[in-house]
Amino acid sequence: MANTNNKAKKITTIATLGSHCALQVLKGAKDEGFRTLLVCEKKRVGLYERFGFIDDMIIVDKFSEVAGDRCKAALKKKDAIIIPHGTLISQMSSDEIEKIETPVFGNKWILRWEADREMKQKLMEEAGLRTPRPVQSKDKISGLCIVKLHGAAGGRGYYLAWNRESFEEGAKRLVQQGMIRGEQDLYIQEFIRGVPVYLQYFYSPVTKSLELLGVDRRYESDIDGIGRIPAKQQLGAGGEPSYTVVGNIPLVLRESLLDEVYKMGESFCRAAERLVKPGMPGPFCLEGVYDSEGRFTTFEFSARIVAGTNLYVDGSPYSGLLYDEPMSMGRRIAREVKMAKRKNCLSSIVT
Ligand code: AMP
Repeated sequence: MANTNNKAKKITTIATLGSHCALQVLKGAKDEGFRTLLVCEKKRVGLYERFGFIDDMIIVDKFSEVAGDRCKAALKKKDAIIIPHGTLISQMSSDEIEKIETPVFGNKWILRWEADREMKQKLMEEAGLRTPRPVQSKDKISGLCIVKLHGAAGGRGYYLAWNRESFEEGAKRLVQQGMIRGEQDLYIQEFIRGVPVYLQYFYSPVTKSLELLGVDRRYESDIDGIGRIPAKQQLGAGGEPSYTVVGNIPLVLRESLLDEVYKMGESFCRAAERLVKPGMPGPFCLEGVYDSEGRFTTFEFSARIVAGTNLYVDGSPYSGLLYDEPMSMGRRIAREVKMAKRKNCLSSIVT
C-alpha cells in the first residue's frame, strides 16, 4: 500500500471486467466524464460492442490476465483504475487480486475477508451484526441448516440439511457432479426463516458519510420456482432445489426499518476500519434475512459492488432521496473518484 499515492496520481479512465455489472459501471463512468475501458473475453466482444459508452477494450482469453504484463501496461497507459466486482472475486484468488498493480477502487485487501468464510464471520461479528450460527461439523447439526460452498458461487450447489445423513447425501451428490472435492469444501450455517434482503450501501471517505443506494432481493432457481408446483407433485418430484441466482428484483423496505439499516452499515464500516485498513471505502452489501419480528440476520456481505445494483441504472427509490439526478452505484463510484481527484485524496479510495 506504500506506493498507493504514486499509483493513483491521475486517473482518467475507469476500467472493469466484461461481466457482472460492467455496463452499469462504465455507463456511470461515462456520465461522470471519464474515459471507459473494458477488459473483455473474446466470446463477449460482440455483446459489449453494442454499447457506445465503452471507449476501449482489452481483449483477453481469460479474466485473470488483467494482472498480467500486457494488461498492466495498457491500463497504465490509459491512467486507469479498476472497479472490482463479483467476477473478479470468482475468477481470481485473493493472492492474485492483492498482486494487481493497477490501482483498484476500494479496499482490495478486504476482498479476502469476503472470499474466506471464517474471516467473513469474524468481520460480521466484529461489526456486532446478528449472524446465523456457524455449525462446526456435520455431527453438530441440529435444526435446519444451509450448506454452502466457499467463494462467490452465486448460490450454486447450496442445499438444506437437517441431520448428518441429509448433509452427507448432499455432499456426495456435489462430489459426483464435480463441484467439490469432498466434505471439507462445505460450510454449514443455521438456516434463518424469513425473507432474504440485500442492502446496497456506499461509504464515502471523501464526504465521510454512508449512503443507502438500493435494496433488492434475488430471484433464485429453483428455490423461487418451487411454489409453482403444488405440494402433492412436489413430494413426488424428487431432486434437490438449488439457490442459483438468475436475476434481481427491486424492493422497498418499511420505512421503520431504515434507521437500523443505516446503523448496521455504519457498524460494518467501523469494524472494517479496525480489522482491515483502510476499511470499507465504496460500495458494499449486507445480505440477510428479515424474520417475522422485523429482525435482520446477516448471512453474508459483499465488500464491493453487487449485481443487484444493476436494477438501478436510472437511480433507485433511495438514491432519489439523496440526489436530484439519476445516481446508479456505478455512477456513484465514478463521482467518488472525481471528488477525490479534486480534493487531492485519491489514496483514501484506492488500493
Ligand atoms: P448467498 O449466495 O450466500 O448470498 O446465498 C444465496 C441464497 O441462499 C440467499 O439469497 C438465500 O435465499 C439463501 N441463504 C443463504 N444463507 C442463508 C441462511 N443462513 N438462512 C436462510 N437462507 C439463506
